[in-house]
Amino acid sequence: MQPKRASAPLLSAVLVAIFASIMLFSPAPSAAQNATEDAVDRSVKPGDDFYRYANKRWLAAVTVPAGQNAGQSVVQSYDTRAMLIEKTGQRVRDLIQEAAGSHSIKGSVSQKVGDYYASFMDENGIEAKGLTPLGDELARISAITNKSSLSAYLGTTLNGEIDGLTANADHIFGLWVNQGFEDANHNVVHLWQGGLGMPDRADYVDPSPKMAALRSQYQAHIAAILKLAGIPDVETRAARVMSLETAIAQAFAPEADAADVFKQNNPWKRTDFGAKARGMDWEAYFNSAGLAEQSDIIVWQPSAVIGVSALVESENTDVWKDYLRFHLIEHYAGVLPKTVAAEDFSFYGAILSGIHQTPDRNKLAIAATNAALGQAVGQLYTQRYFSPEAKARAQSMVADLIAAYRARIPNLAWMSPETRQKSLAKLAALEVLVGYPDTWIDYSTLDVVSGDAFGNMRRAETFLRSRNLAKLKQPVDPIEWSINPQIPGAVIMFSPNAEFFSAAILQPPYFDSQGDTASNYGSAGAGMAHEISHTFDELGNIYDAQGRLADWWTAQDRAAYHAAAAKVVAQFEGYCPFADLCVDGKRVLTENIADLAGLLVAHDAYVLSLKGKPDIEIDGLSGEQRFFLAFARRWRKVQPEAALRKQIATDTHSPGEYRSDTVRNVDAWYKAFGIAPGDKLFLKPEDRVRIW
Ligand SMILES: [Zn+2]
Repeated sequence: MQPKRASAPLLSAVLVAIFASIMLFSPAPSAAQNATEDAVDRSVKPGDDFYRYANKRWLAAVTVPAGQNAGQSVVQSYDTRAMLIEKTGQRVRDLIQEAAGSHSIKGSVSQKVGDYYASFMDENGIEAKGLTPLGDELARISAITNKSSLSAYLGTTLNGEIDGLTANADHIFGLWVNQGFEDANHNVVHLWQGGLGMPDRADYVDPSPKMAALRSQYQAHIAAILKLAGIPDVETRAARVMSLETAIAQAFAPEADAADVFKQNNPWKRTDFGAKARGMDWEAYFNSAGLAEQSDIIVWQPSAVIGVSALVESENTDVWKDYLRFHLIEHYAGVLPKTVAAEDFSFYGAILSGIHQTPDRNKLAIAATNAALGQAVGQLYTQRYFSPEAKARAQSMVADLIAAYRARIPNLAWMSPETRQKSLAKLAALEVLVGYPDTWIDYSTLDVVSGDAFGNMRRAETFLRSRNLAKLKQPVDPIEWSINPQIPGAVIMFSPNAEFFSAAILQPPYFDSQGDTASNYGSAGAGMAHEISHTFDELGNIYDAQGRLADWWTAQDRAAYHAAAAKVVAQFEGYCPFADLCVDGKRVLTENIADLAGLLVAHDAYVLSLKGKPDIEIDGLSGEQRFFLAFARRWRKVQPEAALRKQIATDTHSPGEYRSDTVRNVDAWYKAFGIAPGDKLFLKPEDRVRIW
């Protein structure tokens, strides 16, 4: 039940998630979505403050309650993203509950979703079973007698719960099956470090009093869990488990290494393990992991594999067994009796996340159902909320965006001619998928049994693991979805070369499948074009058209890009929301350039969509005006001062108002609103940034 943690180096990782968020313990702030306040505010001149011209009425009307979580008295931020998470969360909850009440035919998607949820909700049934569902597994741990049987057991824990984005396997290693860093034709095993119960290596090694206190609390939690399992002498045992886990943490790669994906590309042969990482019985480990035939493995953090392997030899087997018992119980805390779930929450909810309100069982059940049966819930969601017609309309917008990129790339001044060719080849290979997969995951071999919450979770994990191992024998599928349709978000998979925009992010106000084209292109279109631009920028320039690691910019491209980018840095450093605080232009540079690329390309695409015909006028606004207003509305946000200050200090994205001001660099915006010298946002044509 440990909360999932994104890997630190999101931006250089193979996979980047945007917006995607499943919040287990922290509910999104809820605000009443007021009646549409989308009329422009004519008391503001668009050329003086375009953000408020577009958003002032909404900003004035939206009311955000104080934080609902105990301990949070400040007003929370609220924006379109929060609104979509809230709205979609309610829809998903209703769908899952309807499935639970529908008593559908055994084996159907609806039966699996409904019974998974209902079984998780059946706390009395769970209570009655006590810890007996763990009996077989605990017996297997007790049967460990030496290094070989320990290695064999550890192999059975290698599962598929990491995915290139979520880094914390709660077993000593995590398995991710994806194409190789240098071989785009074959799926290989990516082996990740894992096995810590606290989120970060620093939690174990940081000498500060705050972290020392956290460690004592964690150790007390280990003792409490072991005690619930009826194990004697828990204080001593917990101290030993803590010391083993600290040794594992010390073997973890430094966080700084994680920012460099080239350091993660360590191809090992199966035979290398015995020579490079002594201690583990690797034969036994890989046999029981189902990887006996696997000759090539990419070891992301060799130090962790070497360190853990040495610990298998040096550490007392009995300590390992307590470590395994603790993590086993912790892993299944959600489907075990209340005392276990409560102890789990007391550490992971209250201490680690600062949430004191008892978790809502219903929310946990929905999160668990989404985690186990993501695409099954996705089928129910899209059947109701995202039609094939909506998908087709989004696909046609994507086609226009790609055509706009194809026309723009040959004119990029900072790219050398050969880099432009490589960009065009990468664009041609790029897959942009919208809404939901054409082919859903086939859950027919996953048996979901009413009244068996533990068994359901376990079978779902086995299903995922088998699916992962089967992929090792299948060709790379560049369009395999890595985000569920019901999660409002998008994912860039640099390797292979694909981007996914979920059905839940393609809904109003970003995208209205029945609505105005100009607004769709200015909002969702600009957002999608922003993400596509990362394919060609300093995030994507280390992955080639097939998603292999390759630095394909020249030194000359890099120099020219940074020379052009200096203007963007200067422009954003001129934005100062407080007398003592301005935007840090370098921190937000990459995202600002992506915003500009996204806006320009979406505008080109909008023009393409008109096929030479003039757009209609709606509510006195031209198509061009609606396009730019929709863009400004993407960024509206109610944000208290503390949150805004924090964003400027830590986020690679500029505050919404300044993202909206990207329009200053686009000639068409001046024309659409008659912006003239003297207007506060006016930039002379030669001062507008022309990087894309
Ligand atoms: Zn971005």
